[in-house]
Amino acid sequence: MLEATNTYFQHAAEHLSLSERARQILLGPYRSIKVEIVVEADDGNLLQFYGYRVQHDYSRGPMKGGLRYHPSVDEEHSSALAALMTWKTAVIDVPFGGAKGGINCDPSLLSKRELSAVTRTFVSAVHDVIGPNLDIPAPDVNTNPEIMGWIMDEYSKYKGFSPGVVTGKPLSLFGSEGRTEATGRGVMYMLQSALATDGREIKDVTVAIQGFGNVGSHAARLIAEQGGQVVAVADHLGGLYKKGGIDIPALCAYATKHHTIKGFEGADSMPNTEIITYEADVLIPAAMEDVITQENVQQIKAQYIIEAANGPTTPVAHEALVDKGIVVIPDILANAGGVTVSYFEWAQNIQQFKWDYERVVTELEKKMKRGYRDVLAMAQERKVDLRTAAFILGVQRVGEASFAREQGASSLSG
Ligand code: NAD
Repeated sequence: MLEATNTYFQHAAEHLSLSERARQILLGPYRSIKVEIVVEADDGNLLQFYGYRVQHDYSRGPMKGGLRYHPSVDEEHSSALAALMTWKTAVIDVPFGGAKGGINCDPSLLSKRELSAVTRTFVSAVHDVIGPNLDIPAPDVNTNPEIMGWIMDEYSKYKGFSPGVVTGKPLSLFGSEGRTEATGRGVMYMLQSALATDGREIKDVTVAIQGFGNVGSHAARLIAEQGGQVVAVADHLGGLYKKGGIDIPALCAYATKHHTIKGFEGADSMPNTEIITYEADVLIPAAMEDVITQENVQQIKAQYIIEAANGPTTPVAHEALVDKGIVVIPDILANAGGVTVSYFEWAQNIQQFKWDYERVVTELEKKMKRGYRDVLAMAQERKVDLRTAAFILGVQRVGEASFAREQGASSLSG
């Protein structure tokens, strides 16, 4: 995935005629940390994991990015996702840099006490390099508001009351209204915008969604509320399809209870691998990276892809999608709703002032639609696809800030 992120960066750098020196400065991470996490398991044995935090760039503000709990988490993976956060925060124009990290554990195998101990041990190891003005974690795959609350609590033991150290917290611990659904809501706005460009509406399209976790389930719910037909969904255990559209509120209730969509009786089942090439107008990958590849790209039937997941498309598949004329809203724009409401949450925390839900939703819609217009304008100006345009915009904004801080008005290409 790091290779993919670097490829898209280099492509943008070519368009911006960036010097080799500027590319080196922008591409390399500022700081990369690996810490050992050893905690006592419930049975008295020791559990050992590694925690990672890669801080990529702080030119535009404190670094921001999720924490993922998954056996695949490592330094390279975190580096790729940290760089994506740098370009994403710039594209959506929130005053943050980029970071990412996680722990190489499988939380489904841990008790709540063990999960809390793992999280708190990680925070105690990194508390000096995170903070409201330095690096602000948030939820990602397999992490949730409860875990964010533990992070706030543990960090506050070292630094005093600090709700702004982490976002995606529970409402009772200074979280923001609308944060849990924010990424899915942003995905819905991006679908709305892409369709509007072609004179279409959500109620006119069928949608297939890979992943029914935080992002996928909220995107499904909000798209269904707009009259869209969600005709297929998949999670890690299986897939479902139904012509005419699945009853999404019923599926959400089922998934909340069973922690999977498998076994839901209101639709037919299919292997989860079929979701990417399912016959639908819109495909929303909302699970893991590298799922649209050279192997399946030619069989894709969707006319629109909204990349809710980070890094779902390999560079080779990206080229094929461009050639096929499929409209792709790239991850660094499509899933920016999460970091946008994280920004609102952080702003509320440092001002000790609470916004209501309506204000969050209104401001999020404005930010996402502005982001889409900026990227579309760049694509039209440079005659490039939307991913290339988004990377050009992100790299340009970060580059300008970085060089203005270091050298005043020095040129990026000089
Ligand atoms: P989550 O853990 O809540 O859900 C992940 C979903 O993916 C689950 O339904 C899981 O079953 C499914 N999945 C895993 N492997 C699969 C497979 N092989 N086939 C089909 N489904 C599979 O995670 P999330 O927070 O919803 O994040 C999903 C994606 O969105 C990730 O790429 C994440 O980086 C990205 N993202 C999340 C946020 C956020 O605010 N949570 C923000 C921006 C981007």
